Amino acid sequence: MSSTFAQLWAGTFRYVKEHSPYYRALLADHDTVPALAAVPLLDKATLSARPADFCCVPRERIVELVTTSGTTGEPLLWQLTAADVRRLAHNEQLSFGCAGLTAGDTVLIAVALDRCFMAGLAYWLGLREIGCGIVRTGAGSPRFVLEMLQRVQPTAIVGVPSFLRLVAETAQAQGMDLRAASVRKLICIGEPIRDTRWQLNRSGALLANAWNAGVFATYGVTELANSLCECEAGRGGHLHDEQLHLEILDDAGQPVADGEIGEVVATTWGVEGMPLLRYRTGDCAALFREPCACGRTTPRLGPIVGRRQHKLKVKGVSLYPATLTAILEQVPGVETFVVLAHPESELSDRIEVLVHGPVRLPELREAFQARAKITPQIRLAPRAEIEAWQQPPEARKRRMFVDRR
Ligand SMILES: [Zn+2]
Repeated sequence: MSSTFAQLWAGTFRYVKEHSPYYRALLADHDTVPALAAVPLLDKATLSARPADFCCVPRERIVELVTTSGTTGEPLLWQLTAADVRRLAHNEQLSFGCAGLTAGDTVLIAVALDRCFMAGLAYWLGLREIGCGIVRTGAGSPRFVLEMLQRVQPTAIVGVPSFLRLVAETAQAQGMDLRAASVRKLICIGEPIRDTRWQLNRSGALLANAWNAGVFATYGVTELANSLCECEAGRGGHLHDEQLHLEILDDAGQPVADGEIGEVVATTWGVEGMPLLRYRTGDCAALFREPCACGRTTPRLGPIVGRRQHKLKVKGVSLYPATLTAILEQVPGVETFVVLAHPESELSDRIEVLVHGPVRLPELREAFQARAKITPQIRLAPRAEIEAWQQPPEARKRRMFVDRR
């Protein structure tokens, strides 16, 4: 029988209060189970400052040590027990199940399984649970991926969109027709493939076309040891609510309405090693609660529109960079672009858009006004100038938004 929210929360409350030094102190005044909303939000800085205080088990019960991605600040060491690894495996089994993978699938993992990442391990575990054939190519070489693709005829690939595009470009250069190849599903991690209107963005559409395959977005956070994957309906990643509870909160920490964008705040259920209550992921998205076309009734998390600190304020309008980049991807003639946010005043940011290509600027301005309710400064710029913003020497990946505030 499945557990209710009240049971999961009560069990988690008692567990963390007994075993976690951090939560023992934080919840000292609560003898009975409080409302979850009464627990203060936890930010990454607090967690990073004293991770050992969150660990609920002695060292001999830890079986897996990984690090967080470190996109914000220093990568954090994360520790899992044997039961946590089983939970991770079950989560990925459910997630890949949403994308319709079965034991009949052969799946290429084009993601690193080493370098202390949790993601690659989680995918491997989940595919094992389902019983898929697994091919661990990693993401080191597009040529190797193509070689294995020809040898094993996989039906699906798990990978980062930019790498999967690179593989498609390499195939094209080799004269290989990926559209006629065996891959029918691309499970896309780490980069958005859809906009908030559920349409594929430029990257998602490029991938779907180049591979002649269905594309599925999946979102995961190491600290939560959890991921949410889309189903065929492509209307957000399905939450597995026996493992994770999500809240979407506004700047004041209050819940927003269903379908409204706010910060994703998560509470883990059933974690032994490092359980977290009301953890602020820093990612912004919307949650949808109406039943999905696939028949699942759990909430779905929409596309991540950006980091909380990247939220823009322009003359009274609040918006996220992803809204602007989605518009730029859809207006004809835009070959490449970058969105720059400059400081203007306490209350308003100045947005500058550099575009390259045979674009009609009045049409672009109209699109911004209609869909974002703002008109940024727009300037036609040489490709080289835009690329210098997108990929400065120290950047690990290309960025379409640069925060100069
Ligand atoms: Zn669904």
